[in-house]
Amino acid sequence: MTNRIEKSDQQWREELTPAAYDVLRRKGTERPFTGTYVHTKEDGVYRCAGCGAELFSSDTKFDSGTGWPSFTDPTSRANVELHEDRSLFMRRTEVTCAACGGHLGHVFDDGPNGCDRYCINSVALKLDSTDL
Ligand code: FE
Repeated sequence: MTNRIEKSDQQWREELTPAAYDVLRRKGTERPFTGTYVHTKEDGVYRCAGCGAELFSSDTKFDSGTGWPSFTDPTSRANVELHEDRSLFMRRTEVTCAACGGHLGHVFDDGPNGCDRYCINSVALKLDSTDL
């Protein structure tokens, strides 16, 4: 079980870039095809841009054509939390970092070969290519 990182809104504001703050702490969404990792094929571990927790492996990354980095699975189901999201007149499942509560994106059940599709904002991630 991961420890939840508690920081004040002011602390997050100071630590994160404005774009990362908007997504992680304000549940924003980066514009499609604008993020750093949309087309990245490099091997490594994608960590939370807010707290560094390990979230996704490049092994499960695939090209969804949506304009956001997409993964079939988190490295550990315990590292993410899922929440029902009824905003914007849609019914979606929000994905947050289990350690810091940061908003990452959404998960859909239409991934390749019956897998899930974790649709994640690039700005919420930090690729750590040294771990593999
Ligand atoms: Fe985090």
